[in-house]
Amino acid sequence: MIGRSASLPLTPDAAALLAEQRLQIYRRTDRMFAGLMLLQWAAAVGGAIWLSPKTWAGTTSSIHPHLWLAIVFGGILCSLPVALAGFAPGKTLTRYTIAVAQVLFSSLLIHITGGRIETHFHIFGSLAFLAAYRDWKLLIPPTIVVAVDHLVRGLFWPESVFGVLAPSQWRWLEHAGWVLFEDVFLIISISQSVREMRTRAIQTAQLRSNHAQLQQAKELAEEANASKSAFLANMSHEIRTPLTGILGFTEVLRRDVGSVEQQEKYLDTIQSSGQHLLTLINDILDLSKIEAGRMECERIACSPHEILSDVLSVLRVRAQEKAIRLECEWTTPVPETIVTDPARLRQLLMNLAANAIKFTESGHVLIRAAVDPVGPEPRLVCEVEDTGIGIAPECLERIFQPFDQADNSITRRYGGTGLGLAISRHIVRELGGEISVESEPGRGSTFRITLETGPLDDVPFMEEAFCEAFRSRTSGSKSDFQSYSLTSARILLVEDGETNRQLISLVLSEAGASVVCATNGQEGVEIATDGTFDLILMDMQMPVMDGYTAARTLRAAGCELPIIALTAHAMRGDREKCLQAGCSGFLSKPVQIDQLLDTVQTAVGEPASGSRTESGDPIVSTLPLELPAFRRIVDEFVLKLADRVNEMQIAYEASEWDELASLAHWLKGSGGTVGFDCLTAPAQNLEQHAKQKNAAAVHTTLLELHSLVDRIAGVAV
Ligand code: ADP
Repeated sequence: MIGRSASLPLTPDAAALLAEQRLQIYRRTDRMFAGLMLLQWAAAVGGAIWLSPKTWAGTTSSIHPHLWLAIVFGGILCSLPVALAGFAPGKTLTRYTIAVAQVLFSSLLIHITGGRIETHFHIFGSLAFLAAYRDWKLLIPPTIVVAVDHLVRGLFWPESVFGVLAPSQWRWLEHAGWVLFEDVFLIISISQSVREMRTRAIQTAQLRSNHAQLQQAKELAEEANASKSAFLANMSHEIRTPLTGILGFTEVLRRDVGSVEQQEKYLDTIQSSGQHLLTLINDILDLSKIEAGRMECERIACSPHEILSDVLSVLRVRAQEKAIRLECEWTTPVPETIVTDPARLRQLLMNLAANAIKFTESGHVLIRAAVDPVGPEPRLVCEVEDTGIGIAPECLERIFQPFDQADNSITRRYGGTGLGLAISRHIVRELGGEISVESEPGRGSTFRITLETGPLDDVPFMEEAFCEAFRSRTSGSKSDFQSYSLTSARILLVEDGETNRQLISLVLSEAGASVVCATNGQEGVEIATDGTFDLILMDMQMPVMDGYTAARTLRAAGCELPIIALTAHAMRGDREKCLQAGCSGFLSKPVQIDQLLDTVQTAVGEPASGSRTESGDPIVSTLPLELPAFRRIVDEFVLKLADRVNEMQIAYEASEWDELASLAHWLKGSGGTVGFDCLTAPAQNLEQHAKQKNAAAVHTTLLELHSLVDRIAGVAV
């Protein structure tokens, strides 16, 4: 252990510890020598008095010079080291002075005792004592002093050192040799001791650093625990509030309390509370993905204008409820498509705009969008400006931390978990951009995001008139079930959850469809094979036989019906998994009613356009066709559309899947942009099916597209 540690490098901490320990040893030994010096002085004087107190000249006696020597020389020898040990303990000079004085004391004592050989042992004792400093270099000066003293006194005053008048000429060498002999052992023992000190210093430094790390880990764990408790308290509040609304109003409705208008309001509350809970769960899932480093964003071509319109239409009701103006403007021409993650971009803008509405009591919320072509890569820049409560400067950075809110009282007043901005910042960074905020308390805030758009050189831009018109466009409110027409549709719903089964069949029946239910995949396959249906809605996770197996079994049996997957796993890759199993579309649970009706209507060939047309009715673009610029764009598109869909048919018949996928991709990006939202979902499905070379699904989707195109062409030109 010691050997291994001795070869370890001396870290700065260990070096400091070693130096500290050395200093303590030097000081302690200095003090011991100071005491020893005084003792030796007394011993020298006592020895002189005892051995030769007087000198005689005839009958007269006087004090022997030895006594004077012991008093004076001993006093001088002792005073300097004692003074240094008192005033400069631990210093190099003190140590070396003590070392030399100590062996000079040996010389004095040897002289006083008349060169007795026994007194020479004082030298060996002194050197051994000096080794207590654990500094081998300190042995050099006393060794030299002893050798020189023996040489000089041996030559000129031999009886003072050897006790005889004519010693051998080399006797001093013999004495010096014994001293060196002792030095060797002392040096070995000093080195060993120093090695041990070094090892101890390294180990102590290591222990201290481990201790500091443990302490830090403990503090972090305590902090994490505290924030977990705060998070749980906050979450519990966030979950309880909407749940209280849902349970309370459900109870009220069950007892049939209130007028019809009031009951509608209760239903609105129940719905928005459920929506709130869903957002909360999604946020927590997102955060856990971020923390596990598993949040990835995809990059596909999508229309930024469509995403913005979508966000606006969802939030408009909230803004209207608070009497806040919600506006949006493009300050530069708009690219038809950019390459980014549309779902994440939508989530980002929703977070920022929903916050802006939440924290604004009066005034406006304005979303300003632009494409900044300057710099090596073009960027999409979106600013969300509000005239709300604003944020204090010291909180501006903190609000991007998870679970952090600008002010605790905010939680009580406005609710929220403090997760939205942390997730938003992560998304923005994943999409190659940055998020920043400028704010003034009491006046409002502006959140600004920049995102990579991918190259825009070959992307068409929309006309300026479009940007103008976009500002004033408002989106329609939600339709009721009756505005969908599914009267001729027969739908098979395969779903094991009873609540979902009840809800979905109620919604579809209200919209006019006839619904048959199955409770697992196997039952679904049997019913589908026996009956005649226009569409299958298939839950993916079920007992007995899951939806993937059921879809595969149906496709293998030659079933060409559209199969829409229902899944609660709203993760990346799920869609692909469903499509690979043979599904032609995808809906994530909890099912949004509008989305369900739109998807079903489109899939059964009765598309729900913005104007919610009756089955077989012409479909009209939702762009403001009264403006000539728009009219021209839509007309050009419609002319192109029929040709493109025919080209798709040809590509399908020739099994040219790549060509078909690229045509579908074009339609996916452009259909919605010119106001035919009903084309987006089938085009997206077609692209997927073509990439997977799924001929049966391509066939069904193409039929759907043909019927849509017929109805569009009937009006537009
Ligand atoms: P939440 O809104 O759930 O509390 P966020 O992460 O979205 O969580 O926001 C964190 C905090 O940032 C909010 O609690 C609020 O203090 C502050 N904040 C965010 N947007 C705005 C805004 N537009 N105006 C004022 N404060 C805001």
